[in-house]
Amino acid sequence: MRRVVVVGAGLAGVRAVAELRQQGYDGHVLVVNAEDERPYDRPPLSKAVLAGAAPERLEPDWYAEAEMWLGVRATGLRPAELDTTAGVVPYDGLVLACGAAPLTLPGSALSLRTLDDALRLRERLRPGERVVLVGASWIGAEVATAAAKAGCAVSVLEAGPAPLSVALGVRVGRYTAPWYAEAGVLLRTNTAVTAVGEGGVTLAGGERLPAGTVLVGIGVRPATGWLAGSGIGLDRGVLTDAVGRTTLPGVVAVGDCAVRWSPRAGRFVRGEHWDDALNGPAHAVAGLLAGHDGWPTEQAALTAPRELPPNADPVPYVWSEQFDRFLQWTGWRETPEPSVFRGDPTDSSGWSAAWLSAGGALTGFFAADRHRDTSQARRLIAAGHKPDPDRLADEATPLRNT
Ligand code: FAD
Repeated sequence: MRRVVVVGAGLAGVRAVAELRQQGYDGHVLVVNAEDERPYDRPPLSKAVLAGAAPERLEPDWYAEAEMWLGVRATGLRPAELDTTAGVVPYDGLVLACGAAPLTLPGSALSLRTLDDALRLRERLRPGERVVLVGASWIGAEVATAAAKAGCAVSVLEAGPAPLSVALGVRVGRYTAPWYAEAGVLLRTNTAVTAVGEGGVTLAGGERLPAGTVLVGIGVRPATGWLAGSGIGLDRGVLTDAVGRTTLPGVVAVGDCAVRWSPRAGRFVRGEHWDDALNGPAHAVAGLLAGHDGWPTEQAALTAPRELPPNADPVPYVWSEQFDRFLQWTGWRETPEPSVFRGDPTDSSGWSAAWLSAGGALTGFFAADRHRDTSQARRLIAAGHKPDPDRLADEATPLRNT
């Protein structure tokens, strides 16, 4: 393999290049990135950067060893050739790390995905500014936190019955609702927005809510539209096997653009979180460098049982910092609502919630300000641990002893 092209210089793309070098690849590497920015980390954008901090650059030590085209977009894919806005680029190996883009609503409003977005939003967060946030999602809650601290008059409009209900279910979400009021933020649930504009938003019943700043945070969609018609397996993202191989030989996909087969979960899962972009590239690059023998060219072959390298198919993990709390979520929900709470969710000193499968195995775990619980829970989920529900409910019992 003489030339590997990486599409995207977010965390997944940056990690892929580092892995190529660490795993001994000494050929040419070209990174093509649509954004005209040196790589940076996204999670601080909705936290420290909105509060005034400088962005955290992903300063890879491979800068000198890779060619980087900034402000160049990949537009099409054929075997061994990539179309870009700077011309056709040949490749022997291709890493798709093109991430995701925010979902929007009819009309024009801000969204928060890039450094530019964060700086534009930060400019608006002035005392007294009327800010309407559409979606009480992870991002919506973090922006609400920053906007309230900046002295803005903040309203959050959520179509579901509770904040974070899509990610965590209604019960856990409802326990986060009082945090908005404590921070002086108005939260309106069961409130669908039909249109957004510079002057405010229009609600489903026709009500108009004026605002100086409107931001939509209702989720993301993999930035894979440009791959339509390329022959690569797609289903709301680039379909991959458990280690990132796509249905096109020599092409792997990592991070937010990938929909990876998870033998552990028994279904395809979307990354969408930092941990996945950090750790997925090691396995994908190993698969790429191993060559084309046994490559899963049919979609059905992506799910075929195979021996996985250690640490592949990790239990999903995400964190969020909102309303001066540190939230962590790991695993998946086999039932909509948790089976067991540890601690009092109305108490500010920390609590958690656990989801169990029909067979009693721990599959999902959420924690508010309880760091140790989450790292133990992630290991226990990976091990298929079946806790005793009574011991699980006793917050004095360490999770590993449940
Ligand atoms: P990205 O970081 O999206 O990088 C993809 C890159 O590809 C972009 O630079 C894009 O410009 C480029 N690109 C796209 N299309 C093309 C194309 N056609 N050609 C060339 N280049 C292209 N996760 C957590 O777990 N915890 C958090 O607290 C958290 N906070 C977050 C806060 C914010 C504001 C955001 C936006 C995300 C947050 N995340 C968080 C999610 C996490 O940051 C992402 O999962 C992670 O950054 C994904 O990395 P990636 O490299 O896959 O994609």
